[in-house]
Amino acid sequence: MLFSKIADTFAALESTSSRLEMTDILARSFEGMDPSDLRNTIYLSQGLLHPDFYPEKLGMADRLILQSIATTSGNPADKVEKMWIKEGDTGTVAEQLIANKKQMSLFSEPLTLDAVVSGLRSIETSEGKDSQNRKIKILTSMLHDAGPLEARYLCRIVTGRMRVGASSMTILDALAQCYAEKENRPEIERAFNITCDLGLVGETLARDGMEGIRRIKVERGNPIKVMLAERLPSLAEVMERMGGRCAMEYKYDGMRAQIHITKDSARIYSRRLENLTDNFPDICERLMRNLKGKEAIIEGECVAVDRDGTILPFQNVTHRRRKHDMESAVNEVPVRIFMFDILYLDGKDLTYEPYPERRRILSESFEMDDMVGMTVMETIESVEQAEDFFDRAISSRCEGVMAKSLSDESIYRAGSRGFLWIKYKKDYHETLTDSFDLVVVGAFYGMGKRAGKYGALLMASFDQETGQYCTVCKLGTGFDDAFLDGMPALLDEYKSENQPRSVSAKMVPDVWFEPTVVLEVVGAEISQSPIHTAAEGWIKEDTGIGIRFPRFTGRVRDDKGPEMSTSVQEIYEMYEMQSSDS
Ligand code: AMP
Repeated sequence: MLFSKIADTFAALESTSSRLEMTDILARSFEGMDPSDLRNTIYLSQGLLHPDFYPEKLGMADRLILQSIATTSGNPADKVEKMWIKEGDTGTVAEQLIANKKQMSLFSEPLTLDAVVSGLRSIETSEGKDSQNRKIKILTSMLHDAGPLEARYLCRIVTGRMRVGASSMTILDALAQCYAEKENRPEIERAFNITCDLGLVGETLARDGMEGIRRIKVERGNPIKVMLAERLPSLAEVMERMGGRCAMEYKYDGMRAQIHITKDSARIYSRRLENLTDNFPDICERLMRNLKGKEAIIEGECVAVDRDGTILPFQNVTHRRRKHDMESAVNEVPVRIFMFDILYLDGKDLTYEPYPERRRILSESFEMDDMVGMTVMETIESVEQAEDFFDRAISSRCEGVMAKSLSDESIYRAGSRGFLWIKYKKDYHETLTDSFDLVVVGAFYGMGKRAGKYGALLMASFDQETGQYCTVCKLGTGFDDAFLDGMPALLDEYKSENQPRSVSAKMVPDVWFEPTVVLEVVGAEISQSPIHTAAEGWIKEDTGIGIRFPRFTGRVRDDKGPEMSTSVQEIYEMYEMQSSDS
């Protein structure tokens, strides 16, 4: 298959922001494709060569790419660099310079998808001495055979930043449209949620149809999208929603970990599916030792504790992620895991078992000790009991409680947020609203004391229906000097020359960013807003909702990807709850 066909599809995707149109474009391009080509195309559309959770990432540095572009297009390096500073994207620079190239070389051959994939694999695996030169050489040879559009996407793929705007959900829509019936969409999405591998889902569907999709099972080694909780503003409402009886667990403020364990190996995935195994060698070792069966997938919250086992604030456990010297971090910051779920044990998918059964199996599958334990849980049958449990959670240094349904339907819903789990936190008590995890999509230059720096940020939340990032506030409070100074290092690599396709905004910042970095923000109130685009038109035309008096809490949520930020749908629900309170 020719790579130019794929590049044309990417260009068509980039030219629209309508999710429906993107779905159509993708579905048409998938038609009749060889199943393994389809798998590769899906990965490439996301700037990847493998599923997202693989540790190997292309991530070739911009400066190396510029060298390849200069060599291929026959332009001096300083000219290429100047163009790149102006455009902010190596893909656009490559496209323009290759289009201007006087003549195609006599020796160029059409680029095939296979050639691109194998070239990219060689770039990915180049290591050690001279690897930079090897990477430049491989990319140069691919660019040599590329037309302008192919060059645009080759350069973007090697950086891992595609900017075509097709989210996982759009790709699943297109797969369903092309290879199945509309009513099969939830089953296809479940296959993705339990494997986190869009390419595998696409290839299976193209090869074996829905039969194949139904054979996909939870397996050790493939991370599972985590189940998430809804929220309610009072314990009385939590108990009402649960039908007067539920389980309640302490809600620990640490780092969610999904751990795939055998007797001699363990792999830890964060909520964003990053591999954190190297950051928690002590937890891995202990879980391997304490597992009674042969293999399991469990979930728990990793929390830093002091020498006598008292829980420490969240920041202490994040320290583990940033430390280079892991050995000293393991000694300095002891960690405990509070397990709350089991999804797989010895060949058996447990995600369809109800919560009480999963909890029983979990508690019987491990030896418990000073490092491995279960979350504190009680069966709650009244609001008074819930309040008492909540108070005990807070005095044990937890951030609140998680209510969990005890019904027969209380299965583990991978990748979805629902009322089978309801969270209730301390900050619901103290202010009108909870904290929000919002995505940075733009920055405004500062004035006065902040002149020459970013002074405020344009913050957005993810609309799960449209796949767009919609603005909800301009954030200028809560930044200390260190954070203000560190902002360029945190954000600039995601700079975008134009408004990114996936961002919906009316306010125009001085600098745009691809939605990537998530910050925790508290706000006083959610109100209707003519200048923000979240939930626009839901209450009335031309009006969205915004967060008033937003303040940065100091917490960069690098454990959350942009799609895991507080969604527009959640903020809207909070707006409605708040309106019904007053
Ligand atoms: P939030 O990040 O506010 O949406 O809250 C959900 C998170 O709470 C989960 O992703 C877990 O990391 C964490 N958590 C803490 N304790 C529990 C528990 N007992 N059960 C489930 N999740 C928990």
